[in-house]
Amino acid sequence: MATVHMIAGLFFFTLAFIATSFGKPAADRDDESYDVDHSGQLWQTRARRAHAQSRTVPTDQERTPDYWTNMARASIDEALRLQTLNTNVAKNVVLFLGDGMGVSTVTTARILKGQKAGNPGEETVLAMDSLPYTAMSKTYNIDAQVPDSAGTATAFLCGVKAEAGVIGVDGRTRYGNCSSSKGHEAESIIVHAERAGKSTGIVTTARVTHATPAAAYAHSAARGWEADSDLTAEARENNCTDIAYQLVEEAPDIEVILGGGSRMFKPRSWADPETGGSGDRNDGVDLVQRWQDRKTGRSRYVWNGTDFRDVDPESTDYLLGLFERSHMKYTADRTDDPAEEPTIADMTRKAIEILRKNDNGFFLLVEGGRIDHGHHASKAVKALEDTVAFDDAVQVAKDMLDTSDSLVVVTADHSHTLTFAGYPDRGHPIFGQNVYTSSTPDNTWDELPYTTLLYGNGPGYALVETTNGNDTQVTRQNITDVDTADKEYEQQSAAPLRSETHGGEDVIIMADGPMAHLFHGVQEQHYIAHVMMYAACLGEYTEHCDKPIGTPKPVGDAGPAARGSYYTVALTTVLSGLLMMAATRL
Ligand SMILES: [Zn+2]
Repeated sequence: MATVHMIAGLFFFTLAFIATSFGKPAADRDDESYDVDHSGQLWQTRARRAHAQSRTVPTDQERTPDYWTNMARASIDEALRLQTLNTNVAKNVVLFLGDGMGVSTVTTARILKGQKAGNPGEETVLAMDSLPYTAMSKTYNIDAQVPDSAGTATAFLCGVKAEAGVIGVDGRTRYGNCSSSKGHEAESIIVHAERAGKSTGIVTTARVTHATPAAAYAHSAARGWEADSDLTAEARENNCTDIAYQLVEEAPDIEVILGGGSRMFKPRSWADPETGGSGDRNDGVDLVQRWQDRKTGRSRYVWNGTDFRDVDPESTDYLLGLFERSHMKYTADRTDDPAEEPTIADMTRKAIEILRKNDNGFFLLVEGGRIDHGHHASKAVKALEDTVAFDDAVQVAKDMLDTSDSLVVVTADHSHTLTFAGYPDRGHPIFGQNVYTSSTPDNTWDELPYTTLLYGNGPGYALVETTNGNDTQVTRQNITDVDTADKEYEQQSAAPLRSETHGGEDVIIMADGPMAHLFHGVQEQHYIAHVMMYAACLGEYTEHCDKPIGTPKPVGDAGPAARGSYYTVALTTVLSGLLMMAATRL
C-alpha cells in the first residue's frame, strides 16, 4: 500500500510540476525565427522550430528522461488499480454527449483549454480525459455511412440503430413516414429510469426539441417535426404529434429540462420577452403553460439567467428552463451580462442538485449541442470554445458525484471533417497559421500559409482569381493578414458546401463509475444505451441486481486485489520468461 501511495504522490507532484513550469505563455516566442532560411524538408523545418522555441518549450523537465519514466510509472500504477473492477450498481447515470465532438475536436479543444490557461496546451488533461475506461463507437445509421444526430441519438439512448433522421423509433420506421413509425417506437433509458422510480433530466445548449434530446423522450419519423407547424399532411392524417407536444403531453415525467427552443412550445401570438419573436405553434397551445398547470407545487419555469440562478434546488422538484427561442448562444458569443443565460456547467450543476434528492438515483443527459453547429459553420473557434465549456460541465459532474455509485459516460454522436495538421510547433496557437515565407516555402505548392485547423468541406472554401497582364490565376485566399483566431473566421476547406458535413469515422466513449469497464474495444453505438441500463439495472437488465451485491464497495483504494495484481504480473513475467527459454532450446 505504501508503494501505491508513494507512486500516486509522485504522480501528483509531477502534475503540479508540469502546471508550474508551463507558466510562460507560448506567445512570447520570437516570430523572427520563422524566417530562417531552409529548404522545405520536414526535418529541417523541425530543427528550425526547435531553435525558435527553445526558451519556452520543451521545458527542462520534458528533456529529462526521468520525467517521462515517472509519469509512465504513475500511469501503470493507475492501470493496475483499475484491475479492481467497480461492479457496483449505478444508482446515478450521467451521459455527456458532445454533438459532433470527433477525436480531432477533443484533441484541439484540449490544447485550447491549456492555452487559455497560458500553457503550451498539448499536455493538458481534460476532465473527460481523466475518465479511465474508453471504447470506440461505430456511428453509422442503418441507411447512412455518415450518420446524422437523430439516428445516432436513437442508438445511444434507446439501444437500437435506425435510419438517419428518425427519433426514438426502430429500423422499421422510414424517415419522414409517420404511418411506418406506428408500433415501432423504441423506449429510451429515460423511460426505463422513470419506470424504476429514478428522477431524470435533460440539459442541452441546443433546442430541447432538437435531435439528441428528442430521442430521450419522443418518437418521430422525422427529427424536423419539432412544432405542430412542422408536421406534414401525412403526419397529421396519421395522428403523429410534434416533438414539443410529446415532451409536455406524452413523455415520461422528466424532472429537469434545460436548454433552448421556446418557440416550439409557444403559439404564433406569443412575443418572446427577450427578442420579441413569435412562437411556432399553429394550434394556439401554450405548452409552457400546460407544463406549469400539470406540475402543481414545487415546479418552476425560467427563461433567463437571473431567474435560473434564483432557483433553489431544495425547494424545486421540477424545473423547465427555455433560455432562447431557438438554440442557446455559442460560448464564444456570450457576454458578461449578469442576466445572461446559464452556461452548460451551471445547468449541469443545478440539474444534479435537483435530481440527487431522489434516493432511487437519477439519469441525466447533458448535450453540448452547439459544438456541431460551430463545425457546420466552419467556425472552429465557436466549436472548440463550446467543447471547452462542455468539458467544464464534465468537471462539475466529476466533482459532485462519487464513482462508487455514479456512472459518468462522455461520448459523441458523430464526428466532423475537422483536420488538425501541418507541422506546427509545440505550443503553437491552436487557431494559428502554419506560416512560411517565400524564402522558406516548405511543402505548400502555392507558398501560402494555411491554418492548423482545416475542414474537408464547408463554407470556408476560398479561392481568389488574380490577373497579371493576360495571365489569370486561381489561388487559395492569402490569409497572412487575416485574424484566423477570430470567432467568425471560417477555416478553409477542399470542397465548397454551404454547411460543412458530419464525419463518418468512429468516435470515442470515455467512462468512469460502476461497470464503466464494459466500455472496451470497438463497439456499435447502440451498445452505450445497453451498458448504461445494465449498470443501473434498468429495462431488461435486472440480472446485475438479482445477484447479492451487499453494500457498495468503496472505490479508489487499490486494496489487496491490486497488490494481488502485482504478484500476478510478476508471476506471469517469470512464467513467460521460462517458456521463452524453453522455446529457444527446442
Ligand atoms: Zn450536425
